[in-house]
Amino acid sequence: MKTVIGLEIHAELLTKSKAFCSCENSFGKDKNENTCPVCLGLPGALPVLSKGAVITAAKAALALNCTVNNYMRFDRKNYFYPDLPKSYQITQQFYPLSSGGVIEINDKKFRINNIHLEEDAGKIIHTCDASVLDFNRAGVPLIEIVTEPDFSSTDEVIKFVSCVARRLKYADVCDAKMEEGSLRVDVNISVTDTDIPGTRTELKNLSSLRSIKRAIEYEAKRQEEVILSGGSVICETRRFDEATGKTYSMRKKEDISDYRYFAEPDMPPVIITDNDIQNIKDSISELPEKRYKKYTTEFGLNEDTADLILEEKVFSDFYDSSVKIYPAYREIANLMTGEVLRIVSGAHKKICETKLTPESLAEIAKMSQNGEINKNSAKKILTHSAVTGDDPLSFAEKNNLLIKNDTAYLNECIEKVLSKNTKLVSDYKNGNTKLFGFLMGEAMRESDRSANPSIIKELLINKLEDE
Ligand SMILES: [Zn+2]
Repeated sequence: MKTVIGLEIHAELLTKSKAFCSCENSFGKDKNENTCPVCLGLPGALPVLSKGAVITAAKAALALNCTVNNYMRFDRKNYFYPDLPKSYQITQQFYPLSSGGVIEINDKKFRINNIHLEEDAGKIIHTCDASVLDFNRAGVPLIEIVTEPDFSSTDEVIKFVSCVARRLKYADVCDAKMEEGSLRVDVNISVTDTDIPGTRTELKNLSSLRSIKRAIEYEAKRQEEVILSGGSVICETRRFDEATGKTYSMRKKEDISDYRYFAEPDMPPVIITDNDIQNIKDSISELPEKRYKKYTTEFGLNEDTADLILEEKVFSDFYDSSVKIYPAYREIANLMTGEVLRIVSGAHKKICETKLTPESLAEIAKMSQNGEINKNSAKKILTHSAVTGDDPLSFAEKNNLLIKNDTAYLNECIEKVLSKNTKLVSDYKNGNTKLFGFLMGEAMRESDRSANPSIIKELLINKLEDE
């Protein structure tokens, strides 16, 4: 049996205000705190399109390799549901923001059919004795990314959703937090054992990569069993239950005609010029795939290290700023994926919330690369800089962390050790070579452990042979 999957990805846009009113667009406020007559659908209230929503949506489309149309228009999608106070959603059915594009992952092309800008609905919260409504989310700008049915496995779907989420985050248009609902995925899935496409079902609002994987695997198997037992799959919308890992029928799938789409009479069409589009394109920071290529080819990082740095945009930005100051690509990458990551995850902070700066990280990497500090000292200095913001070099000097390569000073230390241990020196000369380790340790201690061990070793051998 062949599985055919298409996706509809809803991404909430990071704008200051909602799409058609000036209410704040933020998460975690008290229920119904961010509402006004427009987003509550009160009689007589008229929508005003937010320019920020259009620009952010266009930015998202461009970051996903998609076109932006010069002409777009809004339409009403009519249906009744308690979380939709107007009884229609403002969306773009006929003239969307983008007519799509292609994203390539591991040499396979996945086509996006269109991206449209629309408003989110409110939230229904079910309690033990009642269902209550919170309209804070009503009117929040959303984009819906509609793909062609180009996916044939869960692995491809997970990779695509992760790629979309990462690009949206890097373009600063969506925080893509699936657990908070700012990125939600609907999956259209059918199975067939012929060349004729099977009847598809839609799995609604999957809110984690794990749920997407489990829901697809369950539903593909369910449809297969229906077909093998001689039945036929019904075209319907299904809900995935996290607890049971099964999908359940919600309702028969609506037709486009059920929604009575028509042009939104309260809003004029939007024209975006080629110049506007170019300006928006120029404002997008370097996307993750491009950075990955730069890290692995130009900077010589291995794939795992590059991936780890790219996990968060702030982290990757920090790395880029640091190597711009001092191009120790691998040294800085190793410090970041080792000690820095340990510090930030231990403190549950983002790198930009610590006192570490790209300048101080570059300075530490420079000292380490030039053999002026050892690995332990680098860690010590990093931890100190992250907490205090102090200059790494002056901290290293004050705390005697700089490796002393001054041979006159080191010879003095060695002589002190040898004169204190004359008995051991003669035992050593009489063949007890095991004593070398002890003398070496004493010499390191005498130099405050700040000497380069290989230099001390060489000087000590010379001294013992001379005497
Ligand atoms: Zn409002």
